[in-house]
Amino acid sequence: GAVRVRRALLSVSDKRGIVDFAKGLSALGVELVSTGGTAKELMDAGLEVRTISDLTGFPEIMDGRVKTLHPKLHAGLLGVRSNEEHIKTAEEHDIEWVDLVCVNLYPFERTAASRGATEEEVVEQIDVGGPTMIRAAAKNHAFVGVVVKPESYDAVLSELEEFEGTLSMPTREALAADAFALTARYDTAIARWFSEKHDDFPQLFARAYEKVADLSYGENPHQRAAYYSEVGARMHVLSQVEQHHGKQLSYNNLLDLDSARQLISEFEVPACAIIKHNNPCGVALGATPLEAYDKAFAGDPLSAFGGVIALNRKVDKATAQKLVDQFVEVLIAPGYDEDAMAILTAKPNTRILEDGERRKPRVGEPAIRQLAGGLLVQDRDTGIEDRTEMEVVTARQPSEQEWSEMLFAWRVCKHVRSNAIVLANDLATIGIGAGQMSRVDSVRIAVDKARIGSLQGSALASDAFFPFADGPELAIAAGVSSIIQPGGSKRDREVVEAADKAGIAMVLTNRRHFRH
Ligand code: 5GP
Repeated sequence: GAVRVRRALLSVSDKRGIVDFAKGLSALGVELVSTGGTAKELMDAGLEVRTISDLTGFPEIMDGRVKTLHPKLHAGLLGVRSNEEHIKTAEEHDIEWVDLVCVNLYPFERTAASRGATEEEVVEQIDVGGPTMIRAAAKNHAFVGVVVKPESYDAVLSELEEFEGTLSMPTREALAADAFALTARYDTAIARWFSEKHDDFPQLFARAYEKVADLSYGENPHQRAAYYSEVGARMHVLSQVEQHHGKQLSYNNLLDLDSARQLISEFEVPACAIIKHNNPCGVALGATPLEAYDKAFAGDPLSAFGGVIALNRKVDKATAQKLVDQFVEVLIAPGYDEDAMAILTAKPNTRILEDGERRKPRVGEPAIRQLAGGLLVQDRDTGIEDRTEMEVVTARQPSEQEWSEMLFAWRVCKHVRSNAIVLANDLATIGIGAGQMSRVDSVRIAVDKARIGSLQGSALASDAFFPFADGPELAIAAGVSSIIQPGGSKRDREVVEAADKAGIAMVLTNRRHFRH
């Protein structure tokens, strides 16, 4: 049934809205009990407040480490009001029932994330009494209400006002759910902070997720969907992203957006990546964003239709004019000139996103994938090899130009589903073969796509070794003049011979970049 609230305990770090909430309670005749800082705030606002020491008969001690941790309070929170024994015990020990608890916790996450916070400072932010009260009140929700965020104050007060100072069972249950979600999240952040002090393989227990947005549907319209970010993650796909225009991002948009951002982050110079179905269909570098976009688009104009486009430079008017010629699902860039934005927003459907400055993910941040009933966890495939770690295995050395083409293709290749083949010319992809079950098929697809332009002098990157010489032979016949690949096949000798016979250059990276 409904619970009549006669006594409330208020102890909050985040003091937003607490005075108004307390005033509302006081007006309903609720007795207010409070801890040091909160009590002061309320008294300063002219409210009548009992201190927690008055209730417990014990002072707040040890720099606030022990304020509310007292059996008198906890018995008052946990006692079962319908139990004769409990009632008798309460009378014997002068225990006073507390019917409402309003607590929010020391800002552990904020302190842990702030630069320059010392270990002692972070540890001091581990709230002990707060979670204890929250859990006690939430456990005893049959008789106690628990409020853990300022956003709930208004609704709780309205209900109390409307129903003669009582809170209903459904309300108390909903509040208890919020309460346990908060303490779970809080302890998760603490566990994560401790586990990160060692660079062991990341601990999965120390992870929790919170909903960022409900999505209108999943990969398909009959699948419900939502987007969650990881609690305490330094960045997630939507952190620091502002949407200026267009419909809500869809499940598939988010998937492609994530890939686009990861790919574009490989490059410092102006770059553009166009993603379709989680694979790039065009990637290019250029002197300007316009040039990068033009070249990326030219890489596969047919596939670029309805793609997710990422640029790593501010979008100017000229680029915007080009962009509106196409059907763009999502556009993300670090900024937009005013006239560019005006041009882009003239189209109702393009989702226009601005990408704020983001911190790089922590070293050691794992990549997690879900399987039926389980998770696969691995190190992220971060970083990419440079020339010094590679080995030229053909008689012909690559020219400087060929080196740049190969290294560019190699970077892109890492972001293409296996088996991945990337053909590049003039620092732009001209053909990408993705997600095929045989490598030679990926080569065939990449070459077919590239036929629209010129393959002469282009570079080929392969995410893993060639098991046979057929793939390279096909590419060489089409005009490829340099090949970059990990090597390590039983038939490497045949593969290198094919390259030597054709007089092209081949580089082995000794590291592969599968992306399944
Ligand atoms: P105040 O500003 O009222 O002095 O302190 C409020 C904060 O103290 C709240 O965030 C609450 O969770 C926390 N708190 C309440 N009791 C205790 C306790 O016994 N130990 C610790 N460490 N924190 C407490």
